[in-house]
Amino acid sequence: MEINEMKKRLKEDLTKKRYEHTLGVAYTAASLAMCYKEDVHKALLAGLLHDSAKCLSDKDKLKCVKKYKLSVTKAEKDNLELLHAKIGACFAEDIYDVHDEEILSAIRCHTTGKANMSALDEILFIADYIEPNRKELPGMDEIRYLAFHNRTDCIVMIIENTLKYLEGKKSLIDDSSKDTYDYYMKKQESERSE
Ligand code: FE
Ligand code: FE
Repeated sequence: MEINEMKKRLKEDLTKKRYEHTLGVAYTAASLAMCYKEDVHKALLAGLLHDSAKCLSDKDKLKCVKKYKLSVTKAEKDNLELLHAKIGACFAEDIYDVHDEEILSAIRCHTTGKANMSALDEILFIADYIEPNRKELPGMDEIRYLAFHNRTDCIVMIIENTLKYLEGKKSLIDDSSKDTYDYYMKKQESERSE
């Protein structure tokens, strides 16, 4: 499917706000890819499609879980919202005809991150947090600066903020978020002692 066709479909499936966010993430991811000499087109596609399942009702999310035979973690059961990442990767293949495993992986882990992410995974994870339409969260200036200078430090700071937010909401913290945090804390330590 062509980019313009994808945008048209996304515009239909998403709220106006979510569509604007989607474009922000797509262009931010592309810029990060330029900065780190990664594949700009893949970053753009990952950004465009990452929230393609975000505006589904809970009922439709559960239908998709069945349809695509997805496994559901405890945290996902508690917070169905989290499922939009896995379902988004299925939509990328099924609706948008994108089968590149690097792109699908980035979409799949964009909400919680995971240990040892690929460069593209990291780029999408960061772009989702810093895109210009995002409301100003604490520490955002620093996070946006780090995004283009040190991805490990940037990811650590994003997760610290996210964990604080989730603790405040008393939501269950997904194991993947904890794994991501532990992994990138260690990575930061070893990079600093180099
Ligand atoms: Fe998302
Ligand atoms: Fe998003």
